Amino acid sequence: YAKENGKNNYQIFTQSMNEKTEKNFRLENELRQALRYQEFEVFYQPRVDTEGKLISAEALLRWKHKERGFVPPSDFIPIAEETGLIIPIGNLVLNKVCQYIVELKRQGYPVVPISVNISAKQFMQVEFIREIESILHQTEVDTRYLEFEITETLLILDENRARDTLSDIQQLGIRVSLDDFGTGYSSLGYLTQFSHLISAIKIDRSFFFQFNEKNKQIVKMIIRLAQELHLRVVAEGIEKSAQLNFLKNEDCHEIQGYLFSPPVPSNHFLDFVVIGHISTNSESTG
Ligand code: C2E
Ligand code: MG
Ligand code: MG
Ligand code: MG
Repeated sequence: YAKENGKNNYQIFTQSMNEKTEKNFRLENELRQALRYQEFEVFYQPRVDTEGKLISAEALLRWKHKERGFVPPSDFIPIAEETGLIIPIGNLVLNKVCQYIVELKRQGYPVVPISVNISAKQFMQVEFIREIESILHQTEVDTRYLEFEITETLLILDENRARDTLSDIQQLGIRVSLDDFGTGYSSLGYLTQFSHLISAIKIDRSFFFQFNEKNKQIVKMIIRLAQELHLRVVAEGIEKSAQLNFLKNEDCHEIQGYLFSPPVPSNHFLDFVVIGHISTNSESTG
């Protein structure tokens, strides 16, 4: 029996492994097709101050799949990173964002800075700065309207490389924020060491899933820390007015979340740019 069971387990194991690789392989091919047939779109989520004034926006990638509809980034970014496809995808996102900024400016809109997520693999790539420079050159974007969102893990991966790349980015006039702060390998040492190369901290949205006393204390501490280091602080995933009131009281600079708006298509985001102010959604529908 033991032998038989062992064999069955083995079969189940290999079967699920094959299913996984097969699924990933299919996904990889679909991603290549998506790049070729331009199935990617960039959505924009407003970042506002505690009074709802539009401060900036985050660019968030959306894959409009022919049959499956919108595929969320969590379903394909990991594979894109594994296969290296994150590099052409990342360049495409940056290109679209730069073009959008230039177009808004050309049409005389009051442009706000847009932040773009940069994956660790993309950031650590030898050609990264050269590719950024090429996109900046092609689009002639004013880099004061650009921000890159990176994660802390990247700082730990290769400290020297990270420092060099971050100062190159700074030289180009692009700001950098630390995304998903408070999760992962947060270390005060890293933060103080890199604070002169970073302009903002984005508090991870997981602290707001369960907004209990413990998480409130952590959020308070992160805000104090940012203030000490003269960094801006952004709270992500804000859905409730109680959370907003708390953050207002703690002098948090920017708020991003469904309470104000989910990520929206570029033409919809234009409305926010024109009005320059967003009122909170009703909590039941947000
Ligand atoms: P992130 O950079 O931390 O982005 C914030 C995520 O929180 C977005 O998910 C956004 O839609 C979501 N969010 C914002 N407010 C709320 C809220 O009030 N409630 C809830 N439940 N969620 C909220 P999204 O768009 O699904 O993106 C997930 C992740 O995928 C991003 O997390 C980022 O790490 C990655 N990603 C998205 N676009 C890109 C991209 O262009 N390049 C790279 N490298 N990664 C990207
Ligand atoms: Mg982000
Ligand atoms: Mg992230
Ligand atoms: Mg985040």
